[in-house]
Amino acid sequence: MLSEQPYRLSLYLLLLGWLPAPVLLPASVACAGDLWTLQVQVKNRRVTGAPLNLKGKTCYVLRRDGQLAKFATADATDFKKIDNGFRAFDYATMRGELMSEFGNAFDVSGAGQYLVVHPAGERDKWASRFAALYRSFMYYFGQRGFTPSKPAFPLVAVVFRDRQQFVQHSLRQGNAVSSNTLGYYSPMTNRIMMYDMTAGDASKESRWQATAETIIHEAAHQTAFNTGIHGRFAEQPRWLVEGLGTLFEAPGVWDARNHPAQSDRVNAYRRQAFRKYADNWKKGTLAAVVSVDRLFQQNSDAAYAIAWATTFYLSETSPRRYTSYLKTVASRPVLKNYPAPRRLADFQQAFGEDLNLLEARMLRYMSKIE
Ligand SMILES: [Zn+2]
Repeated sequence: MLSEQPYRLSLYLLLLGWLPAPVLLPASVACAGDLWTLQVQVKNRRVTGAPLNLKGKTCYVLRRDGQLAKFATADATDFKKIDNGFRAFDYATMRGELMSEFGNAFDVSGAGQYLVVHPAGERDKWASRFAALYRSFMYYFGQRGFTPSKPAFPLVAVVFRDRQQFVQHSLRQGNAVSSNTLGYYSPMTNRIMMYDMTAGDASKESRWQATAETIIHEAAHQTAFNTGIHGRFAEQPRWLVEGLGTLFEAPGVWDARNHPAQSDRVNAYRRQAFRKYADNWKKGTLAAVVSVDRLFQQNSDAAYAIAWATTFYLSETSPRRYTSYLKTVASRPVLKNYPAPRRLADFQQAFGEDLNLLEARMLRYMSKIE
């Protein structure tokens, strides 16, 4: 099934060294051309959108704003097909919807593919940053022979004024955020939710750094899930999603044009974390990580470090195979599980049968990376 929980980075210390900065992430839509529009009554609310499934106990409907509605099929009445096709909201409509949802305390600023909801009266420093990251993301993949598709929906990010506002809003949405969560991307809402760690005080430059890092990680997730690099409605291996998110944290990846050296693409924090685990490496860890997501629950610091190292190694040494593997995984069937044996087989198909050999090569390569 798809990941309904936001993709969340657990605690990680920024390069500045003191500020815990968790980050989260997401899922994307492969908006097929054969979608049609349904209207249905679910208890006291009306749901309009493209059904992703109509069989089974739970129904998922893709709304025109890009959010997913989920409800028990038994609670739904009065099914009506209201359109043979499906159209996402355009920017003007989406902007109006966001303004009425968030009210006068917020402004909605747009740039490029983005609409950013942020505290009213604040100089618009947000939308242009998100839009620039989006362009960098496209550039990075374009350089590797992968042309991402244009997002089907405007990309929405919500920046709350402070942590309290962020936590309260997340709770109302059913997302309990842990004390070290700085932001997240949710596959269900298709939105980034975060807060301004400077709380509007530009003099808190070190906190701006943390805010910027959160934006980069989450924007990478959101862009990947909205441009076909990941499949938003298909189960995606966690290591692949977080590997890409952490890959983009390095300046040589999120700003490749200005930082072309390989050393700029190394995520220094992740490399340091990875070395700790590499010193006591258990043979077979690579096969385990690419097959199941368990390590993310058991030891998230190790999981993120290994996800980053694996992604860095594969994208540096076999970029074509890596992008081809991304395509295979993104095209997994909608709303279906991705069982471990299938994950393993797809990985071996892309990178070779002998994972012990691949693992040994990766460890050697990573030990030399400066
Ligand atoms: Zn993440």
